[in-house]
Amino acid sequence: MSYVQAKAKKEVRMVTTPSIEISRRQFLAAGGLMAAAAWLTPTTLFADSGDVLVPGGLKAAATAKVTVQALRRNISVLLGAGGNIAVLTGPDGKILVDAEIVTARPHVSAALARISADPVKQLINTHWHFDHTGGNEWLHEAGASILAQENTRKHLSEVTRVEGWKHTFPAASAGAIPSTVFKEDYTLHTNGTTLFLKHYSPAHTDSDISVHFAEADVFHTGDTFWNRDYPFIDYSTGGSIEGAIRAAEANLAKVTDKMIVIPGHGAVGGKADLILFRDVLVEIRDKVAALKKQGKSLAEVVAAKPGARYDAEWGNLFMSPAAFIALVYQGV
Ligand SMILES: [Zn+2]
Repeated sequence: MSYVQAKAKKEVRMVTTPSIEISRRQFLAAGGLMAAAAWLTPTTLFADSGDVLVPGGLKAAATAKVTVQALRRNISVLLGAGGNIAVLTGPDGKILVDAEIVTARPHVSAALARISADPVKQLINTHWHFDHTGGNEWLHEAGASILAQENTRKHLSEVTRVEGWKHTFPAASAGAIPSTVFKEDYTLHTNGTTLFLKHYSPAHTDSDISVHFAEADVFHTGDTFWNRDYPFIDYSTGGSIEGAIRAAEANLAKVTDKMIVIPGHGAVGGKADLILFRDVLVEIRDKVAALKKQGKSLAEVVAAKPGARYDAEWGNLFMSPAAFIALVYQGV
């Protein structure tokens, strides 16, 4: 790394610290315009320390507590460090929606045993990300067949780079690859329950599906809904802020007053939480788009704090406010 690049990178790190604001003049003086432009890509701002999010997630999940929350009828949810897992129990065996991070295996396994002794027969992946498919291999070995949208199988089957995480995933092992895939819709009848699976148009990724447990009116949104957390958006595999907003609208078109909604991340919620999520995405998208249209750089938009009234609550999970603004800026 050249001196100029190093200086520019140092300044980018400063920009990502919410409490430190630097002026455009100081910023340009420190790094030089060309170097600043080269470093100030959204992904640089997001993963300013390099490939840390995925290794950090793997490490955190190894010790994270996994709790069980009973929802309605024979449906529970496991809440832990990665994506939320829905569990349907009954004489046909357990049906799981999502599989957490691989290192959470002992905690997920113990939580499943606390719900019932039924074996796991079926695993549905809401999308291909490691914090939702990490348990695919061990759950398959335990007897589950895996079902997903066809793009989940595609991304798991090959080397896939996620720029937003500065991480390259190797192809998954054969046992972790979904054996059944579909394009738009899929319906399952099991344990006295009808499960409607539906593909979103590209949103958080190009592989996102929702799962609706019809009789209980429980709806798993995958990562198209994060409850009071800024969402990650994976531009490398088809995601975008506009797609994320479209999916948020699709969820609102589906929700009923009594529906229980399981987000990809965050606490179980309902209609009001889906409305709030859509409103926050739209408000921040509109503010960032207006500033970008005025010619503001990413650093300037981050410094303007378009999400100021949400940042303290919403910027605490995977996504700092600066990281989320960078993903929005990339897509407007
Ligand atoms: Zn995801």
